[in-house]
Amino acid sequence: MGQKADKEKTSEQKSLPIIVEQKTKAEQVKLIPKKTRYEWENLNNNKSVKKYCKKVDKKFLHWGWGRSRCKNISWHHVRNSVLGDPLIWVSFGDESRKKNRIDTTMVLCGVHGDEITPIKFCFDLIYYLIENYNEHYSERNIVIAPIVNPDSFFKDNPTRTNHRHIDINRNFPTADWNDLAVKLWKNRYRSDKRRFPGKSPLSEPEVVFQVNLIKRYKPSKIISVHAPLTMLDYDGPTLISDVEGVVGYKANALLKSMSQKAKGYRVKDYPFFPGSLGNYAGNERGIPTFTLELPSSDNRRHKEFWALFKPALQSALLHDLRDDLPLSADTKTDLNNI
Ligand SMILES: [Zn+2]
Repeated sequence: MGQKADKEKTSEQKSLPIIVEQKTKAEQVKLIPKKTRYEWENLNNNKSVKKYCKKVDKKFLHWGWGRSRCKNISWHHVRNSVLGDPLIWVSFGDESRKKNRIDTTMVLCGVHGDEITPIKFCFDLIYYLIENYNEHYSERNIVIAPIVNPDSFFKDNPTRTNHRHIDINRNFPTADWNDLAVKLWKNRYRSDKRRFPGKSPLSEPEVVFQVNLIKRYKPSKIISVHAPLTMLDYDGPTLISDVEGVVGYKANALLKSMSQKAKGYRVKDYPFFPGSLGNYAGNERGIPTFTLELPSSDNRRHKEFWALFKPALQSALLHDLRDDLPLSADTKTDLNNI
């Protein structure tokens, strides 16, 4: 009897894997979104962008990053840097839907020209989206400006400040700028040339560029990539008030998720400054603003950084932080426990 039972069992086991395999394949078709390549509506870069792309390619080869594929990307271009290079950005998704308050992530790289690894990082993100576009990404808008401060990046020895020696992360028109920006720079930073906020707020085209991107796309979150402070910082709505609580809660959850997905990357509450993006967008306008400080500006480590932070970026792009979305029942329960 025992033997027969075993035999039956064996024949049952033999036939099982086939059924299981078929079921799994059928499920896979349902569950995994179809991976497609992102198709540009029209790839028709203007003359100055085409010329600029050659310059980008040359610099990429110089840093050992291979070709930038810049000319194969459909760029937006409205204004130029102080020296006349186009300030370019790319937008994934259907821009006409932005009026419906669709979830929009804005990613900014190369704000400080001597922090070069973030620039390659933004291009890696663009390549990733082109090659792995799926229905999850197409539900939202993703806006990426990979070289916010080209005049500094293209120097033989890249600098932090722009061509007019102004730190474009201290030149945003924040409410405290007139009273504090220059005063703090002189007193606390002893007139450190690397942090000069300018003579007046919003004096630099690279800052006007960022301000206009924020006005145009009304992002539900911003990720600004820098180096080398090795941390993740957040500026934006907190849990202090009821109104801010919902976005603050969601943003805090995303901050934790991004850190976890990057092997427990250090989260640090770094202060914001008069004229900084974190102050302008996060503090004053309530847009969750994440600053990702990569561990180094060493051009050779670009692959390592993309591999480390790719899952964190995927999580950030898919995390809907819109303030007009009701919280799910689960989230509400969690919120009460804080
Ligand atoms: Zn920086």
